[in-house]
Amino acid sequence: PNAKEKNLDLTYHVHPEVPNALIGDSVRLCQIIINLMSNAIKFTPRGGITLTVEKQSDEQTDLTLHFSVADTGIGIPIEKQTTIFEPFEQADMSTTRRFGGTGLGLAISTQLVHMMDGRIWVESEVDKGSTFHFTARFKQAKPVESKGPESPSLVRPGLHILLAEDNAVNQL
Ligand code: ADP
Repeated sequence: PNAKEKNLDLTYHVHPEVPNALIGDSVRLCQIIINLMSNAIKFTPRGGITLTVEKQSDEQTDLTLHFSVADTGIGIPIEKQTTIFEPFEQADMSTTRRFGGTGLGLAISTQLVHMMDGRIWVESEVDKGSTFHFTARFKQAKPVESKGPESPSLVRPGLHILLAEDNAVNQL
């Protein structure tokens, strides 16, 4: 709704080499993306925001993705481009009154990214826009091998199973 209100274009590109399924913490991943997208919307008066996801590297059991959120907003002065990742730091303390916020979002995102074995950084130019990048490492999801209907555990005769479930929805 905030993007719509400001008439901002929201687009995303997920490169074809990004697998459909990976093993990782989807809740925390969403938290990082939502934080970066919310900031991008907050600090962009006109133009748009693009989320891009591409594969960075592929190491047998693991895979690293590179995410970027690019906006056409107010930008961040070079001397603030590292401090904003610290807790309670905002690029311009006078923007607190204008834009609100706590200065904690990027500090939390940084911790979450580190827990996913990744790094986070920004490229930005004042009045041109900012691109926030982060990487995160996931486990590759192995395709489940189907054993077929003749699987011994499925047809073993005389097997009684007691399934106890106290939740009405699960019982159904
Ligand atoms: P908050 O948004 O609550 O202030 P964050 O930690 O998410 O806290 O961001 C810290 C500061 O970094 C912001 O106050 C702002 O000064 C700057 N910032 C973050 N994202 C952007 C962006 N996309 N464009 C311009 N400045 C940004």
